[in-house]
Amino acid sequence: MTSKQKVGGTLLKEIFLSTLVVFLLPCVAAGQKAVPPSPAQVVQAVREYRMENEERIVRELTEFLAIPNIASDTPNIQKNAAHLVEMLEARGIETHLLPITGRGPVVFGKLISPEAKRTAIFYAHYDGQPVDPAAWTDGAPFEPVLRSAAIEAGGKRIPFPANGERTRGAYNDDWRIYARSASDDKSPIVALLAALDALQAKKIPLAVNLKVVLEGEEEAGSPNLQKTLELHKNLLGADLLITADGPVHQSGRPLVFFGNRGDIGIDLTVYGPVRALHSGHYGNWAPNPAIELSRLLASMKDEDGRVLIPGYYDDVTPLGETEKKALAEMPDNDADLERDLGIAKPEGGGKKLVELIMEPSLNVRGLRSAYVGAQAQNVVPEKAEASLEARLVKGEEPKKKYEQIAAFIGRQGFFVVDRDPTMEERRAHERIAKVIYEGGYRASRTPMDLTMSKAIVDVVKGAAGKDTVVMPSSGGSVPMYIFDDLGLQWVGMPIVNYDNHQHSSDENLRLGHFWRGMEIYGAILADLNW
Ligand SMILES: [Zn+2]
Repeated sequence: MTSKQKVGGTLLKEIFLSTLVVFLLPCVAAGQKAVPPSPAQVVQAVREYRMENEERIVRELTEFLAIPNIASDTPNIQKNAAHLVEMLEARGIETHLLPITGRGPVVFGKLISPEAKRTAIFYAHYDGQPVDPAAWTDGAPFEPVLRSAAIEAGGKRIPFPANGERTRGAYNDDWRIYARSASDDKSPIVALLAALDALQAKKIPLAVNLKVVLEGEEEAGSPNLQKTLELHKNLLGADLLITADGPVHQSGRPLVFFGNRGDIGIDLTVYGPVRALHSGHYGNWAPNPAIELSRLLASMKDEDGRVLIPGYYDDVTPLGETEKKALAEMPDNDADLERDLGIAKPEGGGKKLVELIMEPSLNVRGLRSAYVGAQAQNVVPEKAEASLEARLVKGEEPKKKYEQIAAFIGRQGFFVVDRDPTMEERRAHERIAKVIYEGGYRASRTPMDLTMSKAIVDVVKGAAGKDTVVMPSSGGSVPMYIFDDLGLQWVGMPIVNYDNHQHSSDENLRLGHFWRGMEIYGAILADLNW
């Protein structure tokens, strides 16, 4: 570690000295109003810079990846934050740590540009999912490894080009870096900073003031993000927030998305006799909770998967015209998915997957009653349990969704309790269901009709191509409502390959995606204006 850190110090000094020189240049020229280069021109400039500096950019990434970053590993997560401060300050970014006791701080940075009319916050997280080194092909998630391709495609371990070697364009787009957080979510941070270096080197002024919010416990569920940001609300004035988390579209095309779903969990238990009974002696007499639970669950949805709970779809904020158009233009790979996943007929009555994730869902996450297989016993079980989950869309309140579901269970003839029933209750009620609300959070979606939304789509398409996938909302759940509550409109701008093994072993980053990401971020920094 010691020698690596020394290398890190030298690298950051190099960056600092080179940015210091170019930083002064635009100041001299201040006053003359230059026409900003187009996104395509910025892409060229960033690419040109990158080709000359690949070794340095990759070294900055691998040095960052070499610092273990599990959120609960306090000494190391704080080392990551300290390293980030050096990385940001090397670019002249004013940096503050927003402390969280016993955890990694939120690293906040600010770079004001004299020409900028707008301010963009860039959000990413520097912590990663826990690791099981034994499950990794190379056995060491925090020792970045370069491979000639994905492991699944036969990628072989290759040496990183040596420090100082002439490496113009030496890195192949298909090469991958394997390490925890190689894609989720350290590489977007390095891509953004490299894009800044490129703009400064090419004397392209920033069109936006840049702020960064870098979180150190996202993978641990962001337990302190909201209160930390609220405490420092004064720092967070901005016209939009760009989140870098997540992969590009499964088609491999670049992606901009404007929302994600919320999520609630419900634990459901249906009761039979007070203890499991001999199925021969009591079989046709004792009510079977597994049957009762099955009947209840089946009553919640029709054969097309439409939820039958009254009012289930009532609070959904309708999509605007721009959102509908974006959905219609999204790649339709449903047939491929059906084939790959062995699905003969999807739910949804003919709607596409991308349309269905704009609606709330009701999903049975798991079921359990007595035993099956070799452990099967000839009993009438005493209870049957299900774990339910509902994904929410914009407009829906988590608690209200839970109450709709609980009320429906009541109307299906169940006496609903929020704890184990008493003997008196068992004797008095034919059907009893324990319904436990596990909590959850709202969805969030930025309207695509906003001038800001259109401006960002224009810049990204100008930089990444007309085939950029523009998605009104992703299907997954991330607590972006935290930014909503701070009054910030947000947009998702991920850059990493979708086959990156995020959260799992052998997490990796395809370099071609990393390079394209730098270019897109460069274009946003240089051209975003409305
Ligand atoms: Zn992430």
